[in-house]
Amino acid sequence: MSNPQQTLSIIKPDAVERNLTDEIKAIFVKNNLMIKEDKKIQISKEEAAEFYKVHQSKPFYDDLCAYLSSGPIVVMILEGENAVLHNRNLMGATDPKKADENTIRKLYGISIDKNSVHGSDSVENAKKEINFFFKS
Ligand code: UDP
Ligand code: MG
Repeated sequence: MSNPQQTLSIIKPDAVERNLTDEIKAIFVKNNLMIKEDKKIQISKEEAAEFYKVHQSKPFYDDLCAYLSSGPIVVMILEGENAVLHNRNLMGATDPKKADENTIRKLYGISIDKNSVHGSDSVENAKKEINFFFKS
């Protein structure tokens, strides 16, 4: 591997609730992203607010934190070549309506807020987000 990376992926409540966890995990594995760690948890609204702190000035922040804490989620460390960008490409655009064919959000996303998955957007944020959920 010339550029091995780790990234954080979250299967959000809308997808866990529809029993899509195994299908989404299979997409990562099929596309050479190894699932190094995974756990199903439910977080508090306060923890969601901390996790999504970068968005605190956005109009959707409160709803976003309420949503991420509304039900079980699956958090995973994915590892592979260019894992951060590779995962973002597999996820597709934030708004499922604008996502490319065969991306996870196009296949499973319901709306811009219930868009089935989260993925770190940079190597630096991936480290912070992995540490947030998997403290070593
Ligand atoms: N989001 C939303 N409304 C918006 C934009 C974003 O509800 O207009 C939610 C959506 O769930 C998204 C999350 O906020 O996944 C974080 O937004 P970001 O812009 O970081 O998108 P992402 O990195 O998840 O594609
Ligand atoms: Mg983001």
